[in-house]
Amino acid sequence: MNLNLPPEINLQPGTLQFLQSGPKRLLINGEWVDALSGETFASVNPANGEELAQVALAGVEDVDMAVHAARAAFEHGPWREMSGEERGRLLWKAADLIEAYTDELAELETLDNGKPIRLSSKVDLPNTAKHFRYYAGLAGKLEGTTVPVSFPNQFVYTLREPVGVVGLIIPWNFPIQMASWKLAPALACGNTAILKPAEETPLTALRLGEILIEAGFPPGVVNIVTGPGEPTGAAITAHMGIDKVSFTGSTEVGRKIMEAAARSNLKRVSLELGGKSPNVIFADADLGKAVKGATWGIFSTAGQECVAGSRLFVERPVFQQVLEGLAGESRKVRVGAGFTPKVHVGPLISQRQLERVMGYIEGGQKSGAQLVSGGERLGGELSQGYFMSPTVFAYEDDSLQLAQEEIFGPVAAVTPFDSWDELVMRANSSRYGLAAGVWTQDITKAHRFAHAVKAGTVWINTYDLIDPAAPFGGYKESGFGREMGRDALDLYTEVKTVWVGLG
Ligand code: NDP
Repeated sequence: MNLNLPPEINLQPGTLQFLQSGPKRLLINGEWVDALSGETFASVNPANGEELAQVALAGVEDVDMAVHAARAAFEHGPWREMSGEERGRLLWKAADLIEAYTDELAELETLDNGKPIRLSSKVDLPNTAKHFRYYAGLAGKLEGTTVPVSFPNQFVYTLREPVGVVGLIIPWNFPIQMASWKLAPALACGNTAILKPAEETPLTALRLGEILIEAGFPPGVVNIVTGPGEPTGAAITAHMGIDKVSFTGSTEVGRKIMEAAARSNLKRVSLELGGKSPNVIFADADLGKAVKGATWGIFSTAGQECVAGSRLFVERPVFQQVLEGLAGESRKVRVGAGFTPKVHVGPLISQRQLERVMGYIEGGQKSGAQLVSGGERLGGELSQGYFMSPTVFAYEDDSLQLAQEEIFGPVAAVTPFDSWDELVMRANSSRYGLAAGVWTQDITKAHRFAHAVKAGTVWINTYDLIDPAAPFGGYKESGFGREMGRDALDLYTEVKTVWVGLG
């Protein structure tokens, strides 16, 4: 296995042991098992295109076994009997273990996803542990209400109950964090789960499965099935025994999931989908901070973020200055393999994703947008991986593909605006509505924009922060349902109303 590491980097013994311990298996009913078909697929290091591990490819029958295990664990046995407080203790223990294994998990994340080790270890892993802790605290606080109804002599109250067996399908851009965004609230509410990580990045989810067993979650409570969208993901969405699917990924697959839910058992669905987020710089902003914020708002994680500030609106008097500033900052971004010291940004996830993004760059140039900087695949010592330079385009026509479609790569599309009405109309003229940003020193203008823009999250004079306590999700075709915060409890519970006749 060629891991492409600088000579001074020594991986944790646990990381090496995990990678060298043979093909990765499915977690079903607390046991690690091969796929019934015996089939496996390769998980590849995007920094050099080399295989990291063979991973079991779950088919329809494997998913069915996972659903039976999850159903049995939900209906009978220790999980069913546990109080919320006891579930909270397990989640807390999981958070402790994630912290204890942070170095190892961060290394696996960087190898499998490509992101710089500094980000994996200082952002992704701490956020993962924080999610488990936040929902550990809420597990024992799932309160109902008492309801004053219009009839006399009736006492009415509500209970919050778990939905049942939940399918959790996640993408490759924040593999372990997104596992925690879904698993932690689902488990806090008392559900049992089947997690499907993306085929590009299954490794940290599988290691997390080992950690959850070590934390003491009973068999069948968390099951992990690996494999591609078809057949593995589709088997989850079509299964009659799954009560709810929570999905993060593309809007196109989100549609398929709703269709499958409608065709099967009307399972509950929540969707966190794509974005084309407007980030706005007014002429009165602190331009130094705004340009740096816009730079990281689009280029961090190589633009592979659903909230990437990919449409940058700049008030015309400062347009040229901001455009040049952004192009200058983009040239300072150090792109490289995740373990190389001082690297800011890693590779794109796959050859397919690289080709897709390069296609948008070619299309942008043909459509008349001005390529200001970047736009190339990186060669030399990076030529084996899927690396590209941060790219800046200037444009005026909102109908361009560059201004409408989610590119999911390090491509900023920058455009001038002249008036408030024009800004609000253009910022909202997107099928997406996940996030937005605004940079100004005028507090009234900032809040007016936050109210006017159709987006699930708005950042004022900052960008791209998330926290387990702050609800997160989309308007329009960016999906529905809110992850994080107390709102996520709504995704994983049913409300039961109880009437008691007192007369
Ligand atoms: P997908 O939406 O295809 O993948 C997300 C998850 O869904 C993966 O686990 C995938 O499996 C699974 N999946 C795929 N097809 C199905 C299906 N029919 N039924 C059930 N599950 C399925 O994203 P891609 O990886 O293909 O990326 C394509 C584009 O999606 C990106 O360029 C970007 O625009 C957007 N995207 C948005 C994300 C976000 O955070 N909102 C995250 C990732 C992508 P598998 O990958 O194993 O095939």
